[in-house]
Amino acid sequence: MNTTRQGLLIVISGPSGVGKGTVTKEFLSRNTNAELSVSATTRARRPQEIEGVNYFFKTQEEFKRMIDNDEFLEYMQVFGMNFYGTPRAFVEEKLAQGRDIVLEIDVNGAMKVKKAYPEAVTIFIAPPTMSDIKSRLYGRGTENESAIDRRYREAFEEMQYIRKYDYVVVNDIIDRAVKAVCSIAEAEKSKVSRNNDLIQYYDEELKSND
Ligand code: 5GP
Repeated sequence: MNTTRQGLLIVISGPSGVGKGTVTKEFLSRNTNAELSVSATTRARRPQEIEGVNYFFKTQEEFKRMIDNDEFLEYMQVFGMNFYGTPRAFVEEKLAQGRDIVLEIDVNGAMKVKKAYPEAVTIFIAPPTMSDIKSRLYGRGTENESAIDRRYREAFEEMQYIRKYDYVVVNDIIDRAVKAVCSIAEAEKSKVSRNNDLIQYYDEELKSND
C-alpha cells in the first residue's frame, strides 16, 4: 500500500482566553504529521509574536491585494477592524501531500471552511465556565481594559456557534483537552469513508487471491 492519502483538515475555534492556542500547540507537538496553517493579519504584532510563526503581519493594502488575487481559503474582518485570513496555497499543497493541517480561526471562518470543505473536522474549545474566560483574559496582560471587555463580549457571541461544530472539547485540564483532540483526529482518520484507497487495495488483494 503506497498511495498518499489526503491529510485531515482540522479547524479549531473557541473564544479568546479559552486556551485554544495552548491546546493547538500541544496537539501539534504530539502529532508530527500535523502542521499549523499560519494566518495573515493586519492587526498589530504583540511583543512576543514572531513574523511567520504566529502570523504573517500585513498592511491593509497588502492584505487587500491578497484578497484580490484570491490567495485566501477564507478571510474575515474580526472585531470590525482587523483582517485575518488563511492562505490557500499552503493548506491545499500540504493536504495533497498527506499532511494534517490545523487552522486556528474564528467561528465565522470555521463555518466558511466547513462549507467549502465538508470533510474538514471542526472542534470548538470551550471554557469550563464563562468566568474562567474573564480571568484568563486579564491574566494574559497583553491588552488594555476596553480591548479585554470587547473580547469578553465577543466570547459570549462565539459560544452561540457551538452547535454548528462537529465536536466540543472543554479545556478544564490541558492534558485532557489535548488528548480529546488527539482522539478526535485519530477517530476521524480511521473512518471508512476516509480510507477509500486502503479499501480498494484490500479489494484487489482479495480478488487476486480468489
Ligand atoms: P488574535 O488577535 O487574538 O490573535 O485572534 C483573534 C481571533 O482571530 C481569534 O479568534 C483567532 O482564532 C482568529 N483568527 C486568527 N487567524 C484567523 C484566520 O486566518 N481566519 C479567521 N477567520 N480567523 C482567524
